[in-house]
Amino acid sequence: MGCNFSYEPENKLPEIIRCHNHKRPDELPDNWQARVDLATACRGFYFYGIGLRNAMFNHAVAVAKRKDGTGSCYLLGPFGVLWKDVTPESIVEIDLSEGEKAWESLRMPDTAVHIMIALQKNRPDCIAVFHCHPIYSLSLACTKNAKIEQLNMTFMELCHDIGYYGSKVEDWETYYNDWFQTLGKNKHVLWLANHGVTTIGHSIAQAFEKMTAMEQAAEAQVKAMSTGQPLRLLAPERTKQLIELLQDDYPDHAQAHLDSFRNLLPENCLKPDS
Ligand SMILES: [Zn+2]
Repeated sequence: MGCNFSYEPENKLPEIIRCHNHKRPDELPDNWQARVDLATACRGFYFYGIGLRNAMFNHAVAVAKRKDGTGSCYLLGPFGVLWKDVTPESIVEIDLSEGEKAWESLRMPDTAVHIMIALQKNRPDCIAVFHCHPIYSLSLACTKNAKIEQLNMTFMELCHDIGYYGSKVEDWETYYNDWFQTLGKNKHVLWLANHGVTTIGHSIAQAFEKMTAMEQAAEAQVKAMSTGQPLRLLAPERTKQLIELLQDDYPDHAQAHLDSFRNLLPENCLKPDS
């Protein structure tokens, strides 16, 4: 895979970082905006009950501009904090100009960093990734031949956006690379057998939208299956038509969805120096 990320030559970045970054700084979200979006997403997940509501083994990560706008950083949801308590200020920042030292000194597991490195290596079009263990998606992922069926008009698009992955772990680097290779060039939802869900996005809002859609679709399916009645699947030709209509009518629905949770942030959560 090519490496099209470039910094000014005087900015001495270790090779590992330079090769994993494919987004130009001017394409990345502003630091504060990304912090607000990430904190809002965590609180939105809490609202939905996604990820067992904490940030212990669930991960929220994004690439953004550094505060001074000169390069990029990773922003991580804080460890050991309930999703409902995450604020823009509490988001952990990793300055990529410091190389591996920056995350070796983290006072939290560096899993999220390695997930992001694998994301950037395999899907440089995406800047955000969430990894959670939402209960309905997980319940279905614990069944044989798990599959999201074409049942729910609201989430029809999702069925074409899911990659399915088993639970084989040999080493973490291979494991995370396998995750994103499973998604190919276009998919955004990774369903992990006996484990949970990982979603990615060109924006934090898109990755958030995918996670919440996956869990709501799984919930509807689990509840429909629990009735014991045969499932009523949507006709493929009808769903194709509806998907196109939804894309045309609601092109910005992911950002609008995330923004609708902004009020969950504390009132005094203001941009520094504003
Ligand atoms: Zn997990």
